[in-house]
Amino acid sequence: MRRKLIAGNWKMHGLGADLAEVRALIAAHPAPACEVAICAPATLIHRLAQACADSAVAVGGQTCHIAVAGAHTGDISAAMLADAGAQWVIVGHSERRADHGETDAIVATQCRAAWDAGLFAILCVGETEAERDAGRTLDVVGRQLANSVPDGATPHRLAIAYEPVWAIGTGRTPTADQIAEVHRFIRAEINARIGAAGGQGIRILYGGSMKPANAADILAIADVDGGLIGGASLKADDLGAIVVAAEAAAQARI
Ligand code: PEP
Repeated sequence: MRRKLIAGNWKMHGLGADLAEVRALIAAHPAPACEVAICAPATLIHRLAQACADSAVAVGGQTCHIAVAGAHTGDISAAMLADAGAQWVIVGHSERRADHGETDAIVATQCRAAWDAGLFAILCVGETEAERDAGRTLDVVGRQLANSVPDGATPHRLAIAYEPVWAIGTGRTPTADQIAEVHRFIRAEINARIGAAGGQGIRILYGGSMKPANAADILAIADVDGGLIGGASLKADDLGAIVVAAEAAAQARI
């Protein structure tokens, strides 16, 4: 039984005052029946870790450099995230792939660096709208998985997030059948790669305009083990409602 996972991605949002939302989330959901993480800008990691101390909410970064340290102005290593209090990190988000030229090979090395620092990695894959329209979704996702998931993946250090690029921040989502098809495909690819014993345990998250109004429907789809949530993770009420939907979806599967 895979434990549902709800991870917020604050992107380049959040000042110290916004940690009040995290405190409100913790107060409203002190013992969630799913895993909850918030991946914050690097400037907030230390204060977020303090706000989440002794709570069920885990702390994550949004990317990491492939190296442990070095002459890379402005970059942050996985060891630094861990040192600041993070336990998680997102790698391969489409905004990083597009804005910073992070290729599959770089993402694989980032993921390995995250593991070496003891971090749990959420590795993102997903097609652009042009790729979906061209009928290439599974080819693209298959290539990203093959080339960006390093050897050594286990359920204890990796989750995959399926994030159609065209659904991120747009208010649009794929149909339930489209999500089910891609999640089923990812499960099969991971099982083929590492064996069903590990592959069946790896969580596959959906990301892209998930919000309170659609979370229950998306989280009920087979092989959807949680969500990576951008905009709707910034407010305690919205993220809390998605946590409740995940708890209900997990209960319905028992
Ligand atoms: C994301 O950035 O990972 C994401 C899913 O964003 P949003 O929920 O805002 O579409």
